[in-house]
Amino acid sequence: MSASGAVPLVDVEKLQTHFPVRKGLLRHVVGAVQAVDGVSFSIQKGQTLGLVGESGCGKTTVGRSILRLIEPTGGSVRFGGTDVRVQNGAQLRGMRRRMQIIFQDPYGSLNPRMTVRTILEEGLLIHRIGNAAERLATVSRALERTGMSLGSLDRYPHEFSGGQRQRIAIARALVLEPEFLVLDEPISALDVSIQAQVVNLLVELREQCGLTYLFISHDLSVVEHVSDHVAVMYLGRIVERASASQLYREPLHPYTLALFSAVPTIDPAKRRRRIVLTGDVPSPSRPPKGCRFHPRCPLAEQVCRELDPPEVCLDGHLVHCHVAAREIERTGGDVRAASANLAEKVASLVTESVGDTR
Ligand code: SF4
Repeated sequence: MSASGAVPLVDVEKLQTHFPVRKGLLRHVVGAVQAVDGVSFSIQKGQTLGLVGESGCGKTTVGRSILRLIEPTGGSVRFGGTDVRVQNGAQLRGMRRRMQIIFQDPYGSLNPRMTVRTILEEGLLIHRIGNAAERLATVSRALERTGMSLGSLDRYPHEFSGGQRQRIAIARALVLEPEFLVLDEPISALDVSIQAQVVNLLVELREQCGLTYLFISHDLSVVEHVSDHVAVMYLGRIVERASASQLYREPLHPYTLALFSAVPTIDPAKRRRRIVLTGDVPSPSRPPKGCRFHPRCPLAEQVCRELDPPEVCLDGHLVHCHVAAREIERTGGDVRAASANLAEKVASLVTESVGDTR
């Protein structure tokens, strides 16, 4: 439940998705890839949560685990107050109608042998919705909502551009009148020239249809534009979460600071010294002890190598970091000052970045 008392549409609590690592002739389980390890967040109806982080941090697995396209191994997912994880086959199918996903690759996600009409109608047939005339009306309405002409109905996916194919994929999700969409890197496979059109379409549809989004992306500028709240993931865990305006104005976690320092901006007031992280992301099958970011963190201390960072939450701004927690305490809860001090410390320690303001 949120601070305002409203029940969130999506409520994820300590979500865990581990994949077994098997070895030998008998395929014994010898370990686990901790793709998602204790992720919690909630999304209010009509809002967008942006989920950001480097490739392989687990953000796509979070989206698929919520819909149970991948089976989670722990934690809970509640949708409209109902526990998604205990739903059986028929119940889950009914729930999936209300929760849809848009994939990154609009070509791979559309069957090349099916016309647009059959692609869009498929979900209605599976859920036994309407007669032929009603289905055609629903399909046509969804297609027009995405800016596609009805002349597209009897054509095949390969006859369209990448942007048009993504519009068809969005229309396919809309025919079932969902309440919640997982948008998994919905624009990263598109030409830069049409990315903005698809983003604007998604924002319009959210307003028109009262949709709620989980927007997964590594494009921080787009996430800032579309999101009400943003969560930053690193190696299977959320390290920082806040409203979009708070997070972009006052990032606290050293990883978030490094990510944001790489975002190009023409506003001199927003320019940050570029923080270049060294080292590779550790394997999620052998995550480091203590803070998972410590092997790459310029501020790492002994305590970071030994103990999980505490969770600190101030006015809805949540961060998991020993040093940020201490800085917040030192500044008497002044998040803006703590953020500025931490950014200065990180930038001064990462010598490659000094003086680089792009
Ligand atoms: Fe860096 Fe330590 Fe904070 Fe982790 S807990 S981000 S290692 S300062």
